[in-house]
Amino acid sequence: MRIVEFLLTLLIIPLVHSISFWGLSPEIYQKISSKKEDTDLISSKKITKRWDVVNLLKEMTKVESEVGYEYQAMHWLKDILEEQGLTVELQIVEDSDHSNTGLARHNLYAYMGTVRNTKILLSAHIDTNPEGRIPYHEIGEEIHARGACDAKGSAAGQIVAFFELWDEGKIEEGDVSLLFVIGEEYNGIGMKTAVESLNATWYSAAVLGEPTENKLSKGHKGNFRFDIEAWGKKSHSGYPELGFSAIEFLVRKLNILLDSELPSSDLLGPTTVNIGTIKGGDSANIIPSYAKAEMYIRVAGNSSEIKNYVEDLFNTEHSKITIVQFLDPQYLSFDVPGFELIACSYATDMPYLESISIKKYLYGPGSISVAHTQAEYVTVSELYDSVVGYKKIVEFNL
Ligand SMILES: [Zn+2]
Repeated sequence: MRIVEFLLTLLIIPLVHSISFWGLSPEIYQKISSKKEDTDLISSKKITKRWDVVNLLKEMTKVESEVGYEYQAMHWLKDILEEQGLTVELQIVEDSDHSNTGLARHNLYAYMGTVRNTKILLSAHIDTNPEGRIPYHEIGEEIHARGACDAKGSAAGQIVAFFELWDEGKIEEGDVSLLFVIGEEYNGIGMKTAVESLNATWYSAAVLGEPTENKLSKGHKGNFRFDIEAWGKKSHSGYPELGFSAIEFLVRKLNILLDSELPSSDLLGPTTVNIGTIKGGDSANIIPSYAKAEMYIRVAGNSSEIKNYVEDLFNTEHSKITIVQFLDPQYLSFDVPGFELIACSYATDMPYLESISIKKYLYGPGSISVAHTQAEYVTVSELYDSVVGYKKIVEFNL
């Protein structure tokens, strides 16, 4: 803009603004100006002190939320998000009569104002792995706590990113919503319920928070979680021919599975098998009549081929499988410039979003190598960097 035009603009802009009110009746003018004052009043009320991401994570991890026991954490989160000016809904996933723990279980959906359907969804799970509690403590730069990286660190980063974008005027009503879900560490019932019955729509992108070391995930393995039960016939251990060992049957079948070459992929690597638990039998001197194994296959290749193979192997006259969860491998968006990339070997709630045709990102602070262990932590700088990362992903997709 040349200097003359610039000076003219300085003259014209205030003129145009005052002209626009000349044609209004005094009542309407009064209405507009008082409405503006009301809005100011509301927004000044809303801008209470914003959370620092480290403090937010600290407080978040103090409220226990082991999978199944998420009631208190969700209500705590509702209160603090409402204090910050968000509209917050709790969606019942299981009421107290229907949950295993006798506690109601909720998802939390939050957004600014009244527009529930947004361009972008930021989401993380609030439930934590039942691998024992870790009270909040710091070791140098490391924040240790159950859920520090899986996935309360992500949730804290998303919340702070949301408010920074809002306060900077970069997002408005209808741009971004926050969804915090339960049950990810067991069967994904939270995200499944949200997608099926929250009745909210997202148009552009969903960003799921899980520990990716602040790298954008190119994809992750699917998960096939199932139990195998085997039945036999008890007898004196000196006379095995009179009985049928459920444990021996199960172990021989498991060996076949372990030795099988299951489909893999270039992007996600090999499909891996974990025998998580194995139980059975009564005593060393009795041929066992019952055995059970809890299994987890991380699926990197053709998932239905793997499922069919497992079903053929274990659905026999002496054994059967019960599927806990079966989710396909995920291939994700990684088009935002400036990020390192990573392929992940763990499963997330992402497959539940499959029916929604928007871009999907997986991103969050911390490393999966310490998730589900007693050494779970996230670093302070990773947390701050995740806020920058979430903001970048949102701005790219607005
Ligand atoms: Zn997780």
